[in-house]
Amino acid sequence: MPYLFLRGLTHSAAACLLLLLTACAEAPAQPLAVAPLTPAATAISPPAASAPSPLLSFEEWRSLLRSDAIAAGIDAELFDRAFAGITLDPKVVSSDNSQPEFTRPVWEYIDGAVSVTRIAQGRLLKAQHRPTLKAIRSTYAVDHEVLIAIWGMESNFGSNIGSHNVIRSLATLAYDGRRQAFWRSQLLAALQILQAGDSTVQGLIGSWAGAMGQTQFMPTTFNQHAVDFDGDGRRDLWRSAPDALASAAHYLQASGWENGQPWGFEVNLPQGFDYALADPEVRRSLAQWRTLGVNPATAVDANQQSLATLFLPAGHRGPAFLLLNNFRSILKYNNSTSYALAIGLLSDALDGNPGVQAAWPRNDRQLGRSERIELQELLTGKGYQPGPADGIIGANTRKAVRAFQQSLGLPADGYPSHELLQRLR
Ligand code: CA
Repeated sequence: MPYLFLRGLTHSAAACLLLLLTACAEAPAQPLAVAPLTPAATAISPPAASAPSPLLSFEEWRSLLRSDAIAAGIDAELFDRAFAGITLDPKVVSSDNSQPEFTRPVWEYIDGAVSVTRIAQGRLLKAQHRPTLKAIRSTYAVDHEVLIAIWGMESNFGSNIGSHNVIRSLATLAYDGRRQAFWRSQLLAALQILQAGDSTVQGLIGSWAGAMGQTQFMPTTFNQHAVDFDGDGRRDLWRSAPDALASAAHYLQASGWENGQPWGFEVNLPQGFDYALADPEVRRSLAQWRTLGVNPATAVDANQQSLATLFLPAGHRGPAFLLLNNFRSILKYNNSTSYALAIGLLSDALDGNPGVQAAWPRNDRQLGRSERIELQELLTGKGYQPGPADGIIGANTRKAVRAFQQSLGLPADGYPSHELLQRLR
């Protein structure tokens, strides 16, 4: 499921904290999956009136919502059926507020996401669904492997689609959560899905944050990108694998997927390499990277004029990757670099390619959330500009870390290691 500003609870979301290229835009998640990134544009315009919920009871708030929904074209009878018996869900509120101290290191996340079991199951399903995948490729020009990988990551191939009542979850978040306007637009989009007849009221289930079906689409993403590929007249992402796979393909196509091109690949770096080049803002052609001594770890077929960025998910002591345009397309699905890396590596494995060659620095101690906040505060105290002390290692924090590393003559990989925090102290 595409994105979130929710953090915690999911592997992907947890990895988000450490590895986002940008701040985790938004997105909820559930085990083994992150909600797909919902595009900024929502299918429904934000409602005009939206009083701060603390001033209203849930019933009063629902009554205002009902008027807005009817004005937006939702049948009153449908609204009443969808909201029959709906109460606030305290577990959703606590999930929304959850800010876990510890998150899994990227290598543990990758181990779980690209497991031997998942690869084997993915290969089997790729073979079973070959005719459908071929038809999808003809329509949307998206490769088989990445679709199977997304299917595996989002819902463990359809076996884990969540069991929350989506209307209840979204109503809770829109009434009581952070970013209420966002949740309200998702809630209205969910009502539109019911209005369109794609799901029954009882069938509208998903993650605690409203990500739905085998692709874990948020409602606005559903309305923009879900397709009926098996021809039964409904976009059924819950029960139809062809609909789910084609919808993921449609979304990737809209995100600029280049069929037949790699997402990226592992590289070896030369001795004395300038790690400051591992910056999302530094884009070079593959040919230029090659002249800098950055070479593929295994044979790769890619256009040498393609632009790529260098990515060190665990700092200079871990594996290095060059990332191409398709990596960015995956990030539009879910704005977590760990997630996109897992999708890429799982796709490669489904295609029979070997896994990561270099060793992960598995003995490195990860910073907890309070330590990341301390790191940001210490950097600010020394005159750097890591951005707000929120414990999220985004582009600004990486830049500040890099500048501090350079001032000490350390490898400037921008990675917030425990050793670096000690130096700051
Ligand atoms: Ca269908």
